Amino acid sequence: MNLTQTQSLRLFDKSRAIIPGGVNSPVRAFGSVGGNPRFIEKAMGAYLYDADGQSYVDFINSWGPMILGHAFEPIVEAVNKQLEKGFSFGAPTEQELEMAEMICQMAPGVEMVRLVSSGTEACMSALRLARGYTKKNKFIKFAGCYHGHADPFLVKAGSGLMSFGIPGSAGVPTGATQDTLIAEFNDLATVEALFREYGEEMAAVIVEPVAGNMGCIVPEKGFLEGLRKVCSEHGAVLIFDEVMTGFRLAQGGASERLGIDADLYCYGKVIGGGMPVGAFGGKKQMMEYLAPIGPVYQAGTLSGNPIAVSCGLATLRYLNENKQVYSDLDAQTASIENIIHENMKDKVENYCVNRMGSMISLHFSKQVSNYSEAQQADNTTFNKLFHHLLNEGVYLPPSAFETWFVSAAVGDLELDRLSSAFKSFQTEP
Ligand SMILES: *Cc1c(COP(=O)(O)O)cnc(C)c1O
Repeated sequence: MNLTQTQSLRLFDKSRAIIPGGVNSPVRAFGSVGGNPRFIEKAMGAYLYDADGQSYVDFINSWGPMILGHAFEPIVEAVNKQLEKGFSFGAPTEQELEMAEMICQMAPGVEMVRLVSSGTEACMSALRLARGYTKKNKFIKFAGCYHGHADPFLVKAGSGLMSFGIPGSAGVPTGATQDTLIAEFNDLATVEALFREYGEEMAAVIVEPVAGNMGCIVPEKGFLEGLRKVCSEHGAVLIFDEVMTGFRLAQGGASERLGIDADLYCYGKVIGGGMPVGAFGGKKQMMEYLAPIGPVYQAGTLSGNPIAVSCGLATLRYLNENKQVYSDLDAQTASIENIIHENMKDKVENYCVNRMGSMISLHFSKQVSNYSEAQQADNTTFNKLFHHLLNEGVYLPPSAFETWFVSAAVGDLELDRLSSAFKSFQTEP
C-alpha cells in the first residue's frame, strides 16, 4: 500500500500556523518517529479513519480509554440519553454517586473517591492530599514514570538517580521540584537509600504499578511489595498511579491483578471511556482530609460533568457486567505477542516484548526493565517499523516509549492485518 496523505498534510500545515506544533498534545505530532500525523475523521470499533479516507487498526485507542473499541453501541446510547438532559449543572447528581459506588465496587482499595477531569488532576491532587495528610513534603517518583504535567512531577529522569530533581521542562521553578526524589523502577535499593536519607520527611511514593510511559515495563517480583513495606514502615503514603492500568489490567487494575494495596489510587483514561474523567481515591481516613470536610483544597468547575460521567459510568458498568472482556483481551494480546515473535525472531537479534494483560510493547533491545534500558533501545528500527505498519493500515503509538493498548474490538481480521504487516517488514531498506 502507499497511502496518500493529501488532506492530513494540508490540515497539519494549517494547524501548525495556529496551534503550537499543530497539535494539542505533543506526542501526536510524530516528533519521535518523524513524518506527518494523520488527521482522524472518525473511529468505529477497532478502526480509525483518517481525513484521506484510509483505515487503520487502532492500537492506541486514545492512549487507553477506548478499551471497548470506538463508538461502542451501549456507550453511545448512554451518552445520547444524557445529552437531552443538559450538559453541566455545577451541582451534585445521582449519576456521580452511582459512578463513585461503581468505582469502589470494582476497585476494592478505594473506600472514598473524588472525580476530576483528567489523569493530571488526579495525580496532582493525590500528591497534595498525601502531603497534607502526612504534613511532609518529599516524595519519590521513578525515572520514566509519567504522572501528568503538574510541576512537581516534571523532573528529568536519566542520571538524576538518588539526587534532587532537576526540572525537565522550562517554566518549572526549581522550588516546585526540590522535594521530588528520583529512584529507578524495579530497583528497590534506590528507594531504600532515599528513605534512609530522607525517611523523616517523606510524604509519598508514587508509581505506575505497571509502567506504560517508557513502553510497557512490568514490575519484577518483590518490587511493589517492597514499596508497600517501606511506605508502611515510614508512614509514607503509597500512591498507585493507575491512570493506564486502572479498569484495564483487571476490574481493580494493577492493584487487584498483582494483589498489592496502595493507600491512594489515581485514575484516568478507561474511567472516562473516551471523555474527560479522572478520579483519585483510597483510604477513607486520608480522603476525609479533602475540602470541604478537610484542610486540603481541591475543586473543579466541570468535575463530575454529566456527559463525561454518563460515558465513564456506561463503560465501567459494561466492564463490570462482562468480566470475560478481561480474559478475551488477555488472549488477543497474547496472540499479538506471538505474531511479533513469529515475525521478529529471524529478522532482528536484539528485541524483547514486554506485556501484561492488554498492555504490550516491543523494544529493540534484549531486555528493558527500567528507564535507562528503554532509552538505550534501538529507536531507528522502531521508527522504521512504525511507518511500515502505518502504511499497511496499522496504527501503533508514534513513539517507542509508549505502550500499545488493545481494545475488545480487535478480532481475527485485525490480527490478520497486523500479522501480514509484520511479515512484510524489512529491517534493511
Ligand atoms: C496519561 C497518564 C497521566 C495523565 O493523564 P491525562 O489525562 O493525560 O492528564 C497520568 N499518569 C499516567 C500513568 C498516565 O498514563
